[in-house]
Amino acid sequence: MINKDDFKRRRELLAKKLMNEGILRSERCINAFLRVPREKFVWRGYEKDAYYDSPLPLGSTGQTISAPHMCAYLIEELELKPGDIVLEIGGGSGYQAALIAECVAPSDEDPSKWGHVYTIEINKELAEFARKNLEETGYSNRVDVLLGDGSLGYPPLEEKERYDKILLTAAAPKIPSPLIKQLKRGGILIAPVGKGFFQDLIKLIKTKDGDIKKKYLIKVAFVPLRGAYGWK
Ligand code: SAH
Repeated sequence: MINKDDFKRRRELLAKKLMNEGILRSERCINAFLRVPREKFVWRGYEKDAYYDSPLPLGSTGQTISAPHMCAYLIEELELKPGDIVLEIGGGSGYQAALIAECVAPSDEDPSKWGHVYTIEINKELAEFARKNLEETGYSNRVDVLLGDGSLGYPPLEEKERYDKILLTAAAPKIPSPLIKQLKRGGILIAPVGKGFFQDLIKLIKTKDGDIKKKYLIKVAFVPLRGAYGWK
């Protein structure tokens, strides 16, 4: 049996590695990474592997919890700050959502200054898994897990600009237009785009005037997005 302190030591070692690699850079993201126990988000039986820097299968769903370096990279690129309202498409295990929550609603920050995370998951078994994991780790007051097709946004197809940040953790044919509509001016949306094993990670910025700017970040390997704006 690996105890809580062993997990903490492993988490600190992995954080140090990601800092040395220049992936974890800001104090906010480093703190988030050190606070969220990944061993509580992996599938049962995979706890011992929680701090290898690798993706892990989520049971027999065919989906995966992303590798720690990818989760860390994404929270840095989202430029999260306390108070941000964030939408994640692809809740999976809930781990990425918990990391985002620690950045927008840090555990040591006054809850009146907290932002909020909405994460949508299309697979019922995983939505329940994420909900349970977030509940057990104390994040259910900062993260709502919704069951449904996140490619339509949330609420589905609503046109209000309501999110400061939007993250897709499944690869889309192109960035779903309902998500661009729901992004606030000055907001950031990050999405893997493309077909095949490797896709382009794109950072989309909606300027204060409502213009859209896109920047290519890196090559990534995510599972395909399903739903209305996903792969048929
Ligand atoms: N962020 C997750 C990893 C997600 S893997 C984590 O931290 O563990 C991608 C997830 O996207 C899968 O669970 C898959 O079921 C989900 N997904 C795919 N298409 C979707 C859609 N249209 N709406 C919501 N979730 C979707």
